[in-house]
Amino acid sequence: MSQTLKAIQPLKAVRGTRDLLPPETELWNHIDATARRVFARYNFGEIRTPIFEDTQLFARGVGEETDIVSKEMYTWEDKARAQSEKAQSLTLRPENTAGVVRACIEHKLGEQGLLQKLYYIGPQFRRERPQKGRYRQFFQIGAEVIGPPSAGSESPLRDAEVLEMLATLLDELGITGWRLLINSVGTPQDRPRYIATLRSALQPVVGQMCADCQRRAETNPLRVLDCKHPEDQPIIATLPRIWDSLDEESRAHFEQVCEALDACGVPYEHDHRLVRGLDYYTRTTFEFQHGGLGAQNALLGGGRYDGLSEAIGGPRAPGIGFAIGEDRLVLTLQAQAETARADRADAYIAPMGEARNAMALGLARELRAAGLRVELGDGSFRLKKSFEIADKLARKIAILGEDEAASRILTVKDFATGEQMKVPWAELKAHLLPH
Ligand code: AMP
Repeated sequence: MSQTLKAIQPLKAVRGTRDLLPPETELWNHIDATARRVFARYNFGEIRTPIFEDTQLFARGVGEETDIVSKEMYTWEDKARAQSEKAQSLTLRPENTAGVVRACIEHKLGEQGLLQKLYYIGPQFRRERPQKGRYRQFFQIGAEVIGPPSAGSESPLRDAEVLEMLATLLDELGITGWRLLINSVGTPQDRPRYIATLRSALQPVVGQMCADCQRRAETNPLRVLDCKHPEDQPIIATLPRIWDSLDEESRAHFEQVCEALDACGVPYEHDHRLVRGLDYYTRTTFEFQHGGLGAQNALLGGGRYDGLSEAIGGPRAPGIGFAIGEDRLVLTLQAQAETARADRADAYIAPMGEARNAMALGLARELRAAGLRVELGDGSFRLKKSFEIADKLARKIAILGEDEAASRILTVKDFATGEQMKVPWAELKAHLLPH
């Protein structure tokens, strides 16, 4: 008697995680290599910290009240396996700044009185609701400048230098149309003052706001400023600005950052609502945004964290850093390449040898009559030259050589996919139509 075999369901990647496949991985490697090259010019060195850490690091470093720590961490109890070990609560890193600062403290990196300039590239983990540009495992490219105040770690020049480096990196990657938003969230002394002002301003109006804002107004009123609900925007516009709660020193610091950016020609906008989601920020906060990303429009974020080292048990070591969402860089570059391709001609017809010119003109006429955008080469061009020109002007090249003319089957190459195929003359129109 034959037994019916139950079909085994194939397993899939976990929700919010993704496989990165070729040829896309080439783009990832290109981004990594460009970042490493730019960081090296600013004299940064690479640090690699563990992917999991003691849960306490994030609780103390990032802040218990933040969304990341309160809702999004992958945490587990690691049982003791030997008498010499203790059970420990561990967490997959949701961000890398706390880990880098922990490593600086552990290895006494600031002891020689110098600034530490460190960068990292690697995966981070947050249990967020997955959507385009937001994943549960995502990659960040980040850097930190940290050290004793005597090394100049508090100087506004450091902030401006980091921002200028980011502008350079985005430009070198070919990302166009980015916007830099900056703000100051002041010192830990300024913040409670502002939060108190904000709470009382929210009291009479919060009832008209969205459910999230009503909750945030209780737990973490700064987060109300992040609300994206269109109906809440007119109310948020009337709330007091953090700038009015800053002390003279914080204001002067911010103004000096702006002056340095002006001096080196990096464009920015002062966004009074940019408070960001991590508790450790002090003074400067910033975000680079890109319109092509939709709702998840932050390409990268960062800021100053002058108290973080002390919060996790280290010496006074002010610092500034950022994390770029590499997944979002990839999405932006892919969208840009798509737009650039959409701007090209549908086809470049390359006659091989002058004897093919007349036939090529006939073919171009036929395709143009069908509404296609066509560039016509010249039979005097060598194959290599035809390819080079076509790659700049068109999405596809159609080669019309002696064999093709005889068989009326053309060789067509798609520059986006690298695919080369034979297409009968009669099918060329349909083949070349943009999808
Ligand atoms: P944060 O560490 O929250 O300051 O985020 C820094 C940058 O990392 C953001 O601007 C995003 O580009 C990226 N990022 C943060 N969370 C995610 C996520 N869940 N998926 C993809 N990218 C993310």
